[in-house]
Amino acid sequence: MHESRQGDTETLNREIRDELDRVGEDIARSQDLGSLKQSISQRLEFIGNTMERFRQREQEREDLLAGQLEAMQEKVAAMEAHSEQMQQQVREERQRAMTDLLTQLPNREAWQERLLFEFNRWQRYQQPLSVAVIDIDLFKKVNDSYGHKAGDRVLQLVSRELRSRLRETDFIARYGGEEFVLLLPETGVETAEEVIDTLRNRVAVLPFHFGGEPVNITFSAGLTEFRANDSVETVFDRADRALYQAKDAGRNRTQSV
Ligand code: GH3
Ligand code: MG
Ligand code: MG
Repeated sequence: MHESRQGDTETLNREIRDELDRVGEDIARSQDLGSLKQSISQRLEFIGNTMERFRQREQEREDLLAGQLEAMQEKVAAMEAHSEQMQQQVREERQRAMTDLLTQLPNREAWQERLLFEFNRWQRYQQPLSVAVIDIDLFKKVNDSYGHKAGDRVLQLVSRELRSRLRETDFIARYGGEEFVLLLPETGVETAEEVIDTLRNRVAVLPFHFGGEPVNITFSAGLTEFRANDSVETVFDRADRALYQAKDAGRNRTQSV
């Protein structure tokens, strides 16, 4: 039904040319004006019909193309929406994989990534960068005395308190269990110690009540800053050792090295 436009145009031209040739022949052969008029008007009508058919087919082709174009545009729009949806899904899944379910803090994977990022920045710009490891004191007792749910609640509220007291540029993650890790960019160990002690005092006064009793929650912290020749491992080990010193020294304190 839909021959090519070029084919149709050639047919149209040929038919009109042939018809005009015949008009010429009619004129040359004509004997009387009446029959000449009649044959020419027939030929003109034929040409008119031919052109009308051509125009209709042209219109059909145009409609078909417009329809195809619209269908393609819809398909492209659907593909774009789908791709955007997939990207969003990947972003959300990545976010989920980097977040601790209980506390909604970044998890250990997120920590490793951020630690490397800040380490590289420290190597490049040599601005101070402090690292702290925080561990809730005698947390096992909370679980044992008031149940695992109470312990979970403590982890959630302490996490919220820690996160809300830090600067946007600081980073805190739940490293595991009742242990948290902090990165304090552009912060030397002296200032970091003030920050951690402020956090410690805030957590110590959180008004926990379990089984009708007020319960005090404290944490101990080991703190250090990046120094020449440090790697992420040496810094972390140093902070961890400092944490154990803080525990040994009686807990609820910050040990800097
Ligand atoms: P220390 O002051 O020496 O750190 O004593 P601690 O009792 O805090 O340390 P320990 O490592 O003996 O106990 C940690 C406890 O934390 C044991 C474990 O059951 C509990 N814990 C770890 N993860 C979770 C959790 O997600 N929810 C709850 N409720 N408890 C947890
Ligand atoms: Mg621990
Ligand atoms: Mg502990």
